Amino acid sequence: MQADIESILLHETTILSRLDEMAAQITADYTGKELTVIAILNGSFIFVADLLRRIPLPLQVDCLSVASYHGTQSTGTLQFRQTNLPKVERRHVLVLDDILDTGLTLQSITERFSHELGALSVKTCVLLDKQIQSAKKIRADYVGFSIENKFVVGYGLDYLEHYRNLPFIGVLNPHAIERGAAEAKNKFAS
Ligand code: IMP
Ligand code: MG
Repeated sequence: MQADIESILLHETTILSRLDEMAAQITADYTGKELTVIAILNGSFIFVADLLRRIPLPLQVDCLSVASYHGTQSTGTLQFRQTNLPKVERRHVLVLDDILDTGLTLQSITERFSHELGALSVKTCVLLDKQIQSAKKIRADYVGFSIENKFVVGYGLDYLEHYRNLPFIGVLNPHAIERGAAEAKNKFAS
């Protein structure tokens, strides 16, 4: 698995010390407010676990499972994988995701929470913000790291459901991307 990584972008220690800073900011901003954190699955599960243990507030947690990516490309549409959405009426909502790319995921989710589900406020927090050429649909309120436009895996992020358990964030080597795409194609054909 490690052989498929071209370079390590963020070591675990670097990520965790940034989480200390983000958690302090979030704690200061939400003290005295009814906070519900929504974890966007699957990619955010490690980020959420590490961040929330640094926030000493009486918050509630819920999860939302969505998918917009296939392989290394955004499909352009967001699929909600569950019919029952979290209850956030009269709550301050903080949506946590692993990475902000085009912004489609966070924009679709924040719209539903504020317009359909009656949240008092909706803010967004991402570990990574990818620098892309085109305009993003939304900006995140809290960002861990701004990174260049490369496909990354580890610390929860996947390529075709692999690599989520790497403890660091690394750039996936192009050979591993090609090999994964070929394997997926063969599986589909057989
Ligand atoms: P957006 O909707 O285009 O902003 O894409 C955000 C979603 O795409 C994230 O929640 C990830 O699941 C996925 N994604 C985007 N870039 C990457 C990447 O470099 N590695 C792994 N997943 C990614
Ligand atoms: Mg994701």
